[in-house]
Amino acid sequence: MSHSSLALPVLPESPADFAEASWDAIHPWYDALASVPLDGDSVGPWLAAWSRLEELVTEAAAEAMIAYTGDTRDPAKEATHLRFSAEIFPQLEEQGVRLARRLLETGFNRPDLDVVLKRFRAQIEIFREENLPLFSELEELSAKYQRLTGGITVEWEGETRTLPQIGPFLKSPDRTIRERAFRTMGAPYIGLRAELAELFTKMYELRQRVARNSGFADFEAYSYAAKCRFDYTPEDVTRFHDAVEAEVVPAVARILERRRVTLGLDVLRPWDLDVDPAGRPPLRPFRDSAELVEKASRVFHAVAPELGTEFDLLRGERLLDLESRAGKAPGGYCETLHFRGRPFIHMNAVGLLDDVNTLLHEAGHSFHAFASHRQPLVWQRYVGSESAELASMTMELLAAPYLAEPGGMASPDELRLARIEHLEEVLMTLAHVAAVDAFQRWIYTSGQGHDAVARDEAWQRIRDRFQSGVDWSGLEDERLARWYRQLHIFLYPFYYIEYGLAQLGALQIWRRSRTDQAVAVRDYREALALGCTVGLPEMYARAGARFGGDRELIRELVALVEEELAVLGGS
Ligand SMILES: [Zn+2]
Repeated sequence: MSHSSLALPVLPESPADFAEASWDAIHPWYDALASVPLDGDSVGPWLAAWSRLEELVTEAAAEAMIAYTGDTRDPAKEATHLRFSAEIFPQLEEQGVRLARRLLETGFNRPDLDVVLKRFRAQIEIFREENLPLFSELEELSAKYQRLTGGITVEWEGETRTLPQIGPFLKSPDRTIRERAFRTMGAPYIGLRAELAELFTKMYELRQRVARNSGFADFEAYSYAAKCRFDYTPEDVTRFHDAVEAEVVPAVARILERRRVTLGLDVLRPWDLDVDPAGRPPLRPFRDSAELVEKASRVFHAVAPELGTEFDLLRGERLLDLESRAGKAPGGYCETLHFRGRPFIHMNAVGLLDDVNTLLHEAGHSFHAFASHRQPLVWQRYVGSESAELASMTMELLAAPYLAEPGGMASPDELRLARIEHLEEVLMTLAHVAAVDAFQRWIYTSGQGHDAVARDEAWQRIRDRFQSGVDWSGLEDERLARWYRQLHIFLYPFYYIEYGLAQLGALQIWRRSRTDQAVAVRDYREALALGCTVGLPEMYARAGARFGGDRELIRELVALVEEELAVLGGS
């Protein structure tokens, strides 16, 4: 069979060719693909060429984002990142829809592309040209949020510090230092509140317009479609909220009550939540990022040799930027470079156990990128967040038993305490996830989300529903500051419930690993390698977990965590 009619464009050799490219320079490649005649023979090679083009452009964009988040104060890096995120990405989406339409028109079908084609159909359905300028505006507002919050520094004991550098003082055995750290961390957000509220109102209006343009009642309904949530509905998530309120919130209250008694306090204040209840100083599992990388490598080799080897590749190829610096964007992320088939990890380590957990988490994402890279087409590796966070949250739990000496991050007894802390945090995170998700639902469906005062009141109300056992009196501003600090609400709306669903999956995989570590890790890796070729229930099942967030599952897993806490001698 000859392909003589097929004249595929000859693509650039590396993403570097697109590093400085404007949309005008990228556009012709998409036009070329759009004009290739498609039939049963040509569609396969055409898809491969489109996938390769997508790898080249997204990797160039990823490099720009990595450079910018590593140094948000450099205007040139910001401009390059903005060119990709605000100018090129919306256009790419349009071209993606254009080419996907052509593909679907041919009636093309292949079992390993079922989910990908379903995603294409969803993208086509929600796509509206008039939304493109709105997405660009949203990107610019997002950059403004990052600029405002990334530039925050505070004075601490006569020195200028970043907020992540104040974090360790929340663990001080000295209660007055903890309180001062807590107030110091809240103050910049309280100071920025009016500005951030105004910024958010603009985001809210734009998002609701996007949703209405696409034919949805509100941005929540739009987001479920845009995020391709084929395997669960807002009603399922309501059941998750209710189950968390019924099962998790009382368990967290029991944990906090034990903490209150151990600390010998009348009431727990928000600055009493991070300190070791027995008054031991915080763990300092590493001094600098080189030591963190060295020790983490040993941990991953212990979980599975293949994982250790992959992590060592990240180190060898300079794909880790781990330490906190002024001007660096806050938080942590793992970005995939699809052309090279490599992940990149960004985080803000300052020497705490939390940093170790963040690295385990991001490394879990990186193992996902390595595993799914064997899928030939880029869209088969674009997993949804529910499976992405399963990879990362499971790694936190699977790696935890290997953090101890020799040569590790802690002594066996310190490790025991660290695991107590981690498991307590798992339950607190479930409650936090329910609160953030319920708050976002309120914002976009109540009809009052444009009203800054009503928003703040709703946050207080929802926080009360999902958090008990902490006395916030006199700290209303600090409590409000919490949602302004939750960057997902600003930058990645509705990206949060995934953490809850994935945590429930991760707990199930961890439960399995306690009886058969080798099988649990093998099935975990095989599930990650599936990429986006199967639905969530099947992906979770391959990893040995049931996908869902119903009360029965949550009750079972809360009991599991509480049993383990009792065995570990929970505080
Ligand atoms: Zn993650």
